[in-house]
Amino acid sequence: MKAFSVRPAQHTYAVMELPDPGLPGPTQVRFRVLEVGICGTDREICGFHYGFPPEGAEELVIGHECLGQVDAVGEQVEHLNPGDLVVPVVRLPCSDAGCLPCVEEEQDFCNTGNFLERGIKGAHGFMTEYFIDEASRLHPVPPHLRKVAVLTEPLSIAEKALLQIQEVQERLPWPPPKELNAVVLGAGPIGLLGCMAFQLRGYQTTVYSLEPEDHPKAELVRDLGATYVCARNHDLEALDRMVQPMDVVYEAAGAPRLAFQLLKYLDHNGVFVFTGVPGEKPASELDMAHIMRNMVLKNQVVLGTVNAGRKAYANALEDLERIEERWPGILDRLFTAHIPLSEAEHYLVGESRGIKNVVDFTQVLS
Ligand SMILES: [Zn+2]
Ligand SMILES: [Zn+2]
Repeated sequence: MKAFSVRPAQHTYAVMELPDPGLPGPTQVRFRVLEVGICGTDREICGFHYGFPPEGAEELVIGHECLGQVDAVGEQVEHLNPGDLVVPVVRLPCSDAGCLPCVEEEQDFCNTGNFLERGIKGAHGFMTEYFIDEASRLHPVPPHLRKVAVLTEPLSIAEKALLQIQEVQERLPWPPPKELNAVVLGAGPIGLLGCMAFQLRGYQTTVYSLEPEDHPKAELVRDLGATYVCARNHDLEALDRMVQPMDVVYEAAGAPRLAFQLLKYLDHNGVFVFTGVPGEKPASELDMAHIMRNMVLKNQVVLGTVNAGRKAYANALEDLERIEERWPGILDRLFTAHIPLSEAEHYLVGESRGIKNVVDFTQVLS
């Protein structure tokens, strides 16, 4: 079977031939990969800035945003059957018996840092024809979500952020006000899916990004009932005047300077959530005294979050359904290309284009 792999040490990538995976073990499931979404992390790996092959291997099969269809199940597997749609999780627990999060299968909170991530760190990913995984790590997908379920993994980032915000705000001794404002930094797939999740939960959401006001992404934001503000026409002060009070910031741009500057405008009891992973950048000046003063005097919380636990995946699947109901067809507008594996390279390297590009394994493999 074919797979897209990267050899970080040699700085090469290729569609390669892998042996067929064989039959699943008693607690395992074999699934046929239907779709794999391409994201910034895959592009970084293909640019050799990140990505680690499994121990002893030279190559890493990439791909972590996956939708599959069950093809064979082990004899002890009860909740899945051939034909079922599934979304696998990315992160695998570390092997340290003392790591409570991993022991409890909440490896997104791994304490040791020795977790593995499919397609990213120490474990092969899903950009291949067939895959065998533990049944416990597969989320069943209702058949009517077939067209959009490849978005489960990127949406799970916002879902985990929302769970974290909820937990953090339980510190407040009163119920949250009805109208809360959220600013989403960045209008990539993580930002746009984040905007949908915040809108679903009743936040008044403003997306702040570089695309002009007449860009299809800006239109999509407005169609969600949210506000789009172009960062080229409005500075952060202007944004602050438009969003009063700024209760939550969901950072999905990976632009550290902008993010920390925006931190200055976070309001009383606000929460600032980082999800972007910026590359190494030279140190830059920041108004640290102002930020620190605000954080103390305004009881602010700044937190980072990496995807995602069981609950966040389950919420993502539920929300895909709610998004489809509330804004029919809007998720389709995130998809800018469905391509066969043979064309994946054009979307993995070079200039980034579109919003969510998907490798479609039901198209002819060549
Ligand atoms: Zn991704
Ligand atoms: Zn761990």
